[in-house]
Amino acid sequence: MTDFTMQKGDDGVAVITWDVPGKSMNVLSFDGAGELDRLIDDALADETVKGIVITSGKDDFAGGMDLNAIAGMKDAGGAQGVFDGVMGLHALLRKIERAGMDPKTLKGGKPVAAALPGTALGIGLELPLATHRIFAAPNPRAKIGLPEINVGIFPGAGGTTRLVRKLGVLAAAPILLEGKLSDPAAAKSAGLIDEVVDDPVAAAKAWVLGASDADLVKPWDAKGYKMPGGTPYHPAGFTTFLGAAAMVHGKTLGVYPAARALLSAVYEGSLVPFDTALKIEARWFTNVLMNPSSGNMIRSLFINKGALEKGANRPDVPDQTVRKVGILGAGMMGAGIAYVSANAGIDVVLIDAVQDAADRGKAYSEGLLDKGISRKKVTEEKRAQVLGRINATTDYAALEGCDLIVEAVFEDVGVKAEVTKKAEAVIPADAIFATNTSTLPIGELAKASSRPGQFIGIHFFSPVDKMLLVEIIRGAQTGDVAVAKALDFVRQIRKTPIVVNDARFFYANRCIIPYINEGVRMVGEGVNPTLIENAAKMMGMPLGPLQLIDETSIDLGVKIAKATKAALGGEYVDTEVDDVLFWMADQGRMGRKSKSGFYAYDEAGKRQDLWEGLDAQFPRAEGQPDLTEVQQRLMFVQALEAVRALEQGVLTDIREGDVGAILGWGFAPWSGGPFGWLDILGAARAVEVTERLAGKYGDRFAAPALLREMAERGESFYGRFGPQAKQAA
Ligand code: NAD
Repeated sequence: MTDFTMQKGDDGVAVITWDVPGKSMNVLSFDGAGELDRLIDDALADETVKGIVITSGKDDFAGGMDLNAIAGMKDAGGAQGVFDGVMGLHALLRKIERAGMDPKTLKGGKPVAAALPGTALGIGLELPLATHRIFAAPNPRAKIGLPEINVGIFPGAGGTTRLVRKLGVLAAAPILLEGKLSDPAAAKSAGLIDEVVDDPVAAAKAWVLGASDADLVKPWDAKGYKMPGGTPYHPAGFTTFLGAAAMVHGKTLGVYPAARALLSAVYEGSLVPFDTALKIEARWFTNVLMNPSSGNMIRSLFINKGALEKGANRPDVPDQTVRKVGILGAGMMGAGIAYVSANAGIDVVLIDAVQDAADRGKAYSEGLLDKGISRKKVTEEKRAQVLGRINATTDYAALEGCDLIVEAVFEDVGVKAEVTKKAEAVIPADAIFATNTSTLPIGELAKASSRPGQFIGIHFFSPVDKMLLVEIIRGAQTGDVAVAKALDFVRQIRKTPIVVNDARFFYANRCIIPYINEGVRMVGEGVNPTLIENAAKMMGMPLGPLQLIDETSIDLGVKIAKATKAALGGEYVDTEVDDVLFWMADQGRMGRKSKSGFYAYDEAGKRQDLWEGLDAQFPRAEGQPDLTEVQQRLMFVQALEAVRALEQGVLTDIREGDVGAILGWGFAPWSGGPFGWLDILGAARAVEVTERLAGKYGDRFAAPALLREMAERGESFYGRFGPQAKQAA
């Protein structure tokens, strides 16, 4: 396999084309890097070559490093393997940057330019940054940047060191620390690339032929170089570094090792010469890669998320692409589902009981599209197309020809049964019927269907257009075609699916509700609410439990509590939670929507501090628990529920348990998900902590038998249930 080829032209320009066979996007493997290295050696040694242009044979330049190769580097060679691998890349890129010039006089090098037809991410930008000039096509879909931080690592092939020296810490910060991506025009204004031109290869060729010795010398290799904005011990630089450190800590609360390591690499690197800085960058990169957090993040957020999106758990049945979807109920959820469907090119029939409500549901799409237009993300043409696909009506006859129905009417068995029958009277015999219920068992709702084998749960999260996860629920009678249909639908609307079996609250809500309840319960115990919220955030939860219930609304919590109590009878264990929750509802404090909840809100609905009235009703306990204790309660109450879901066969794949937890409710992404978190901790330690918690707080913390067994055998979740273990079985 050849990833890179070189064509030497009569004009003296060697064009190196990156075109990885069998892939739609170039990614760099270590073999590929070896090929590029040999081609660069060849071009530099060849007297007929005056300059080099590096480009791509695809519509885009490159998507980045092959993250599987990064994971492999760690598995094969440990820390030394990672460090050596990274230093190898540094050597290659530095060779391109110095391009054969005399290290003393900085003369005699061969000009190298990069020509980017489209997207250039990660190493796909680090490589161009090592060349002497970057040309990009004016491709508005192209994304240029360094998104590594989003999967728990940081740019480690010189991107960190080069960008900071090129732009200064302040300008480089959003690109490095937030993984901010730009289109070519914005990338040029940010100083990431040099020129946006219609034919980047032609422009790059012309440039290399005209470049002078001085054009090839990077500022940091020239005499008297000073870092833009100053180094840490320069008065201006000092404030920048101080601010950057504070900002990173404020955003990550110390739980993301990559952000911290990145900052250390920048700080330490800025105090030493360039080549030493690269070595420091490689050391910190190795440090991050050896941290289990980064391995878990890459595994869940990249490898496994990708595998699930590609249909890792799709039954082997023919393509089930959805052409016409009928959505019953045009409320908050129905309107959102209509938008994402129409946006993906699917025809939509949006039904509600009255025309006004159906129209309001369609108007929701209009609102989102208008916002897109004002932000220049949507064209008028696209707006018209999407709206043209949505037929808002009260007439069930319009459902004729729908191959999928998604029901999102009121959460009421009777109402749902009625609309199920009405729809089934019209839709084709082989259509699939899905319900978006969040709490009612699929088996129960399927009783209203004359075709329970074609009945399934497709559970969206709110707001539908933003939330990436969709939970597909297989009822006891649901057939494979229905599962495949749901998966193909989720693929069409470009979200990430998990497939779980039918059980109370399915998977996500089963874990979220105990998290919220534990926080509410602590309020009742007199734990300082600020401690509860901060403990959660310092474990990397995006929202504390009290903020989360304010967002989802307290009356919904009351409704769910009442229904759960009715279903469980004497086994109901959350009375202490209800004492707090029902009292809040009695005060009319329903959460953000009523501008009053566990938090106070201003007139405009903006969240302020935690509500002072909590103290009067729930006096502070004298001895406050320490931070770790609160964190353990909040984390284990979720993670143990995930283990029980696995033990009971609700989850059949821990990859889904982890990816679903991060995308569905933001379970501490740094940990890679609840199973990843438990693996970092170790089953034995988990049992030890939960035993203590169970003794103090009750059986909800009792370790499931599965966890105990794993502790005894010294097993990990990925060791026992991971895809490799599954394959071997
Ligand atoms: P909603 O009250 O905003 O919308 C329900 C809509 O259904 C209303 O527009 C109502 O007029 C319509 N409707 C009621 N009876 C009907 C009938 N017989 N025929 C046609 N239309 C009818 O509720 P929602 O928040 O959109 O929730 C809808 C469903 O989605 C519920 O099952 C809910 O449990 C589930 N769900 C909600 C969320 C959430 O966060 N709100 C998340 C996941 C799932």
